[in-house]
Amino acid sequence: MKFQKIWAAGIIGLLPISASGQTAAQDPVAARINEAQTAAGALYGPVQQHLCFIHSPEDDARLAARRKISVLMPTKVFDNFYYVGAEEVASWALTTGKGIILFDTLDNPAEAKTDIVEGLRKLGLDPTAIKYIVVTHGHGDHFGGANFLKSLAGAKIVMSQADAALVESQKNGSGGSRGGKDLIPEPDLIVADGQSLTLGDATVTFHITPGHTPGTLSSIFKVRDRGKAHTLAFWGGVGVPDKEAPLAQYVQSADSFARLAASEGADIAITNHPHADMTLEWVAQLHDSHPVSNPLIVGSAGVARWFGVIKACAQAQQARLTAGLPPEGRRRRTSPSP
Ligand SMILES: [Zn+2]
Ligand SMILES: [Zn+2]
Repeated sequence: MKFQKIWAAGIIGLLPISASGQTAAQDPVAARINEAQTAAGALYGPVQQHLCFIHSPEDDARLAARRKISVLMPTKVFDNFYYVGAEEVASWALTTGKGIILFDTLDNPAEAKTDIVEGLRKLGLDPTAIKYIVVTHGHGDHFGGANFLKSLAGAKIVMSQADAALVESQKNGSGGSRGGKDLIPEPDLIVADGQSLTLGDATVTFHITPGHTPGTLSSIFKVRDRGKAHTLAFWGGVGVPDKEAPLAQYVQSADSFARLAASEGADIAITNHPHADMTLEWVAQLHDSHPVSNPLIVGSAGVARWFGVIKACAQAQQARLTAGLPPEGRRRRTSPSP
């Protein structure tokens, strides 16, 4: 039996999935990738291969083209929600009437200064009005600017318990903080699953969605588009893990958060790496023109599609491990981790 299993895995491993000749029913990795493709449809077609780690020349070319059309600039995305991130990593600002809730801080103080502080100023917003800094998860490309931004006017840093511990563990230099100890933030507010934060007219409800990290913080809140309220689901950590236990958590979290998003009537879904959803194109459209309808409002069916893609891509990764194949990962173009 053992021999058979190794032999079968070897066959799959020798042949590229697309050329294996196996039908999707026989090949569980291909079956999940097909599911992701179906979930993506035309709406998320450009990101599906990327999210499933299909490293085809076609996908590389497509991503390069997407990056070219979308050199992101600080952009007003909704009446009360702004993109102030970089090309590789996102940062989003929610205005509330009583200050700003900022989601993620980029990799280091220099990036936070150039993209977030100067970005907010370009948009007519005051960076010292940041009252809360939500660190979606404990990787340096999301928390590296937190201490610098806090030093502007004492904003409170919000984290989950598990990722506060993950961040703390990087103080000794292990675990990936590239900027050294000074960049490691201390949380001012630890939030639990289901807990809400209200500031001014905004209420953000947090959900712990382990998988990408042990305590990835996802959230649901309202934004307004030309005066009309919409519900946004923010997935706090998108990179699909490469080990069994976190993968199982990722799949479960994607499922449960998608259900929550649906029950809350979410019609917008975003994450914090702009190449992992359609942020590259859609924010660029909003920056450069005034489309009749906001492309980020994809409706509840669109939100379900995006979560369908990330779940199926994670399940494809699980199927690779089950078949004894090596996990796939994102190829790193620049330093930030996914
Ligand atoms: Zn990460
Ligand atoms: Zn990241």
